[in-house]
Amino acid sequence: MAVIIDGKAVASEKRREIKNRVENLKSEGKTVGLAVIIVGENPASRVYVNNKKKGCAEVGIDSFEYALPQSTTENELRELVKKLNNDERVNGILCQLPLPEHINEDAVINTISPKKDVDAFHPQNVGHIMIGDYTFLPCTPAGIMEMLKFYNIAVSGKKCVVIGRSNIVGKPMAMLLLKENGTVEICHSRTADLKKETLSADILVAAVGKAKFVTEDMVKEGAVVIDVGMNRDENGKLCGDVDFEKVEKKASFITPVPGGVGPMTITMLLENTVRAVE
Ligand code: NAP
Repeated sequence: MAVIIDGKAVASEKRREIKNRVENLKSEGKTVGLAVIIVGENPASRVYVNNKKKGCAEVGIDSFEYALPQSTTENELRELVKKLNNDERVNGILCQLPLPEHINEDAVINTISPKKDVDAFHPQNVGHIMIGDYTFLPCTPAGIMEMLKFYNIAVSGKKCVVIGRSNIVGKPMAMLLLKENGTVEICHSRTADLKKETLSADILVAAVGKAKFVTEDMVKEGAVVIDVGMNRDENGKLCGDVDFEKVEKKASFITPVPGGVGPMTITMLLENTVRAVE
């Protein structure tokens, strides 16, 4: 039976540390503020934004919400971002994705000042991640690295297989594992024999977006299994990309959904906001 990685516990310890750093900055007369932009009425985005604001309140970061109507134009949104780039109360700017279809997400991300880009999506920050020299950490992968560290799971020399190559999760995840000297492989929908690849993994990260996609026959005995997925199962219950009940019996460590990667992602956003001031 695997050790279940408790993302909530790791997040709460990390948030305590962040709260202290915020208090120190405030005692030096500095402000720590995050602007959160949401466009339209996507219910999932609303939940994420509310959780991010709650996270800010918990550690003493000021949050400023900009809720814009669905009809907002790309130009109007970019003008708001430019205004926030110059707003001294705002150290971090987060634009909740996805944006409505008529807005080009890349154009908006590219407008955010790299110094306030707490999601680390701006090409300049992506470049820094590639080089391995960065201020802003990509939140979900960075949260996973924190969890591995917390549980003393060594990455160096290990075979790490990441399923998924998105710019938000898969690619930066591979870069962070590589930086810690893992031997890294990225799989995707065109991978010829996925099971052959996943069976070689000492550390397996699933970021696919398909409920219970990773089954026990795809996992090596004793592997560390990190489940990034956030899906709904046939009964509408939140579940990951991994068939948890069965894989748990084979893995040495496993993250549950909910309560695994999710709580760490927002925590690393708070970490980035504090770093923006520090
Ligand atoms: P995404 O952009 O849709 O990427 C999914 C990746 O999975 C793609 O690279 C795709 O390959 C690959 N894939 C799809 N079907 C596959 C198959 N049959 N075999 C192998 N690879 C396959 O998704 P994402 O943004 O990375 O998110 C992934 C999941 O993580 C989602 O469930 C999302 O909700 C969740 N998520 C959670 C958090 C959190 O904080 N917990 C944060 C971000 C995302 P191709 O590139 O070839 O299409």
